[in-house]
Amino acid sequence: MKVLNDFNFENKKALIRVDFNVPLNDKFEVTDTNRIEAAKPTIIKILEDGGSAVLMSHLGRPDGKRNPDLTLSNIVAAVSDIIGVTVKFVEDCIGEKAKKAVAELKSGEVLLLENLRYHSEEEQGDEAFAEKLSELGDVYVNDAFGTAHRAHASTTIVAKYFPNAKCFGLLMAKEIEAIEKVMATGEKPVLAILGGAKVSSKITIIENILDKVDDLIIGGGMTYTFIKAQGGKVGDSICEDDKMDLAMEILAMAKQKGVNVHIPVDVLAADDFDANANTQVVDVDKIPDGWQGLDAGPDTLQNFKKVILASKTILWNGPIGVFEMEKFAKGTIAVGNYIDEATRNGAFSLVGGGDSVAAVKQFGFENKVSYVSTGGGAMLESLEGKTLPGIAAILA
Ligand code: AMP
Repeated sequence: MKVLNDFNFENKKALIRVDFNVPLNDKFEVTDTNRIEAAKPTIIKILEDGGSAVLMSHLGRPDGKRNPDLTLSNIVAAVSDIIGVTVKFVEDCIGEKAKKAVAELKSGEVLLLENLRYHSEEEQGDEAFAEKLSELGDVYVNDAFGTAHRAHASTTIVAKYFPNAKCFGLLMAKEIEAIEKVMATGEKPVLAILGGAKVSSKITIIENILDKVDDLIIGGGMTYTFIKAQGGKVGDSICEDDKMDLAMEILAMAKQKGVNVHIPVDVLAADDFDANANTQVVDVDKIPDGWQGLDAGPDTLQNFKKVILASKTILWNGPIGVFEMEKFAKGTIAVGNYIDEATRNGAFSLVGGGDSVAAVKQFGFENKVSYVSTGGGAMLESLEGKTLPGIAAILA
């Protein structure tokens, strides 16, 4: 792997693709600085070597037009605060102004370029635009895992103009290492916990992961498609009837590959999809009509606990119940606590993909698991077994 620490940046200008697509409030203040903090170690290493940093990112979806609501100048103060250096800003990401600002940049200084997506060529992966970007640095560093699944000019195409001077930033390297642990190098037994709403959105992950794991926990809304496919009564629970054959195929495939599949045996059922609904614990395959399973039941959680505590490598993607409502958050919280315990006992745990991170943060698990991925879509595609173009471009 070509990583940052293989390079000495003394007197070098590093062109760094970061993911500063951060949320802003109506006063254009940054309301969540996680992504900026995540890029900090890479920037600091470059500055400490005696180099300078040219930061490029997108913000929102300006669709190829200048949009004052989406200017990266709004985040200069936040980036300066976090990095501890007064960050300079230039109002374009290519062209004479940008070139001049880079030429004037001294060792130890940081320059932030204007929103890449003010140019439609960015998302088109335009070569001429990528070449112009490449004029703004001596070394290309990709530290934007969140956009690594896009073959955009700044995330992928630009890399080819740096055949011998490109590398992953520290954040990207951590993400790649975490995925590799789950997919290949992690200590056995390896467990994947897949929850969330629908089988259809997780099917490619399940198919890919069956070759990598020893145990698979299926939770959340996906449960009911599997239960009904096996002849159970799921009442009004969320269920994809057109995916029942697929569910049976997955179970057969898992058996053939020697993967132990753990599906809920009991659930907390509700008489309405509502925070104040009446509830009862019932067997997962005997849910009365008019009732729907919205969380895992106590016996299920005991089963899950045993599997989680026996695992050495754990991937968690998707909530176990409708965690947004307090009444149905217990399963997700319990699973988070078991993963916390397993991690304290030495297991490696990765949380990521889609909205999983929201649940983890809501319940304060982000510092209790080994690693929380910063990339929703990029992590999902990695778990599906796809090669991300942003990663391939550095390895090429
Ligand atoms: P996903 O984006 O596929 O990971 O799905 C996340 C969503 O699944 C969350 O908003 C949960 O509320 C929802 N979910 C989890 N369990 C259930 C369930 N039993 N019934 C309906 N929705 C669920």
